[in-house]
Parts: sequence; structure tokens; C-alpha cells
Amino acid sequence: MRRSYDVVIVGGGGHGLATAYYLAKRFGVRDVAVIEKGWLGGGNTARNTTIVRSNYLHQPSMALYGLSHGMFEGLTAELNFNTWFSPRGLIELAFSQDELDSLSRTADANAQFGIKSWMIPASEARSILPLLGDPVPEGRLLGALWQPRGGVANHNAVAWGYARAAARLGVDIIENCDVESVLTVNGRTTGVRTAQGDVAAGAVVLAAAAGSAGLAQSAGVHLPLEATSLSAFVSEPLKPVLDVVVLCGAKRPYLSQANTGELVIGGATDGHPSLSPGGSLRAVEDTAASLISLFPSFAALRMMRQWAGTVDLTPDRSPILGPAGPDRLYLSCGWGTGGFKAIPAAGLITASTTVHGKPHALVQPFTLDRFTSGRLVDETAASAVAH
Ligand code: FAD
Repeated sequence: MRRSYDVVIVGGGGHGLATAYYLAKRFGVRDVAVIEKGWLGGGNTARNTTIVRSNYLHQPSMALYGLSHGMFEGLTAELNFNTWFSPRGLIELAFSQDELDSLSRTADANAQFGIKSWMIPASEARSILPLLGDPVPEGRLLGALWQPRGGVANHNAVAWGYARAAARLGVDIIENCDVESVLTVNGRTTGVRTAQGDVAAGAVVLAAAAGSAGLAQSAGVHLPLEATSLSAFVSEPLKPVLDVVVLCGAKRPYLSQANTGELVIGGATDGHPSLSPGGSLRAVEDTAASLISLFPSFAALRMMRQWAGTVDLTPDRSPILGPAGPDRLYLSCGWGTGGFKAIPAAGLITASTTVHGKPHALVQPFTLDRFTSGRLVDETAASAVAH
């Protein structure tokens, strides 16, 4: 680590690494450091269930996630690193009239905006998911939202692909270095204080997930972030049994089958503020119980591993992007339970915002001032995870 950079990015997760890559690749800003307190991509990026889709409800979200979804399609070639993007199709099930109405609203919004996602009848959903029980205790299956190019990508490959490509362009990636505070002088950001000394910077980007709140506070900025645990687990490996990604409704599981055969399963957050690195057993039990009630044959499976991440929730479940307040301090945080899918686009628009000193058009709806103006982008329902 040198003592001065044009840009310092705090957090070596997907968002920090992608921002560094696009700064160097698209904008020619190569005097960049990514400072990570742990290991590369070891935060939520390493722990997520890797679902990629763009069928959100509000126009700013569809623009952001739609761009990102498109970028995932070409990411392996862009990074020359296999990201294992697998757009195998994604189905979201409705078991009540409320769920059906909510998904139908999303489908209508998607159609208006040109996002390829639409409702399919229950009979078609059942033909896609032959292992779905009938009947299920959740109620009658009433229909489903279908996104044919929704899918998964490999979490490590996305982080490592961006890291390798950024490093080859000259970006310094520093691991095992805790950033303790943001340094400002007369309202202008001048650098960061780290466990290995002060580092001067022309601009600082906070991409430190829940850690962003304390760092912003050190520069006098309050971020409305709440940290909670979100768990996932994997089964023993199976022969192919599930060839789509399934979302079963906010309080129920979401799952896909990994290339290596395991079922990768996630559910609701712990539902209360938490920094627990392992997540709560109750959340895992609830997810497993719901999984078995929906797919009875999975009751015979043994689970291999469980883990959790500390996700950074905002009040409207949309990210916080753009200027933080002090001159040359920028944010890419609040990604909560759904930020993996946004990594390519958010990296690009955060890089653009940092270079130009003003929010990129796609950033504008997600700036911090929406929490004082009330101009929220409420994606609670479309996030498909109970919080
Ligand atoms: P992170 O990957 O957490 O990176 C932030 C980094 O900042 C960390 O490495 C951390 O160590 C570092 N850091 C923090 N404080 C400091 C400091 N003071 N100094 C230096 N470094 C610091 N999203 C989806 O789109 N699809 C999904 O299917 C999905 N499933 C999920 C399932 C689970 C179980 C979890 C936990 C999350 C899931 N998500 C999903 C959400 C997704 O993982 C996150 O939104 C995304 O990874 C956020 O990326 P990030 O780079 O902002 O954060």
C-alpha cells in the first residue's frame, strides 16, 4: 500500500472490486487502491445464493438491475474469467391472492419497461417444477412470475474476476487492513485512516456493506443502515433435479442447484438487528421446514453446510449510491439481501459518479437525500426476501 492514491475504495467485495475495475478500464483512472479488512470477496459476496434477475417493481430499479443483468451476459468475456453465468430461467411462485396480485403488478411494470418477465399459469409452473408437492400446506399454487434469462453466477468468480482484471490494470488490492475512519478537512475528503497508517486520496468510495455506516459517521454522515444476518445452506450433491432458479415467496425459501450438484438454499433474514456471523438457527429451521413442505422429496436430503452474512438493510430495501455529503466521498452500500446481481452495473455507475463528481443518471434515484425528501424506491416486495 502506498501513502497516496487518486481513489481509495473501502471494501473488497463485489461492489468495491467492480468499481475499481471500471475506474481503471472505462475511465483510465488506475491510481486506485481497494482496501479490505478481511480477505478478497470474503464478505456478503462470498456468502450469497448468487441469484441474478431484473424483475423489480420500480423504474429506477428496473433500469439498474436490467443493465446489470445484461452485463452479466457478457461478463465472462469482459473479464476473461469464467463467471459461470447460467441464465437457466427463474420462477417466483404465488400461493395467495396477495402474492399473485403483487407478482402481476411487477409483471405489468416489467412489460411497460421492457424487462422480459411475465406471469405464467399454475399448470405451466408445475410442469417446470415437477418436484413441487401437490397439494402443499402453503395453499393452492395460483400462478408464477417467470423470467427466462434469470439465473445464477459464481460468487467467487465474480469477485476474483473483477479483482484480477483490476489488478492487471494497475489497481492495488490490499487485504487484512482495517479502515478505521474517513479523513476530511473543511468538508473535503482527504483520505482514510487505516490500521497501517493514513492514506491520502483524491476521492474515497465506501463499499463496505454494513461497515459503511461507521465509516460515514466518522465523516459526520448518518446512513440509515440496519445490519442483520441472512443465512444460506447447501445440501449434499445430487444428480440434476432442478434446472431453474425458484423463489417461493418472501417468507419461504429460494433455491437453485449448483454445478457441483448441491441445492443452494436461502430464506428470510433473522428479522432483527444482528451482527451474528453464523445467523440464527431459527431462521434456518424455518427455511428448511418450508422447503420440505413445498418439495416433500427433499426431506430425505442431508444438509452439508450453513453460513450467514451481515447484510446492510435500508428502510426501502434499495441501495444507497452517489455523494455522501463531504466533497469527494461516495457511497455504494445498502445492498442488503439483493446486491450480488447489481455488481456489474453499480460498479460502472459508481465509477462514473466518482470520476465526474456528480451522480450518474442511474444513480440519481438512489442518492442518500431520498431519506430526507421521502422520494423512496420501495422494493420491499420485489426483493422477495422477508426482512
Ligand atoms: P460485501 O461483499 O460484504 O463487501 C464489503 C466488504 O467490505 C467486506 O469484504 C468487508 O470485509 C469489507 N469491510 C467492511 N468494513 C471495512 C472496513 N472498516 N475496512 C475495510 N474493509 C471493510 N444478492 C443477490 O443479488 N442474489 C442473491 O441470491 C443473494 N443472496 C444472498 C444470500 C445471503 C445468505 C447473503 C448474506 C446475501 C445475499 N445477497 C444476494 C446479497 C449480496 O450478497 C450482497 O448484497 C452483495 O454481496 C453486497 O456486496 P458488497 O460488495 O456491497 O458487500
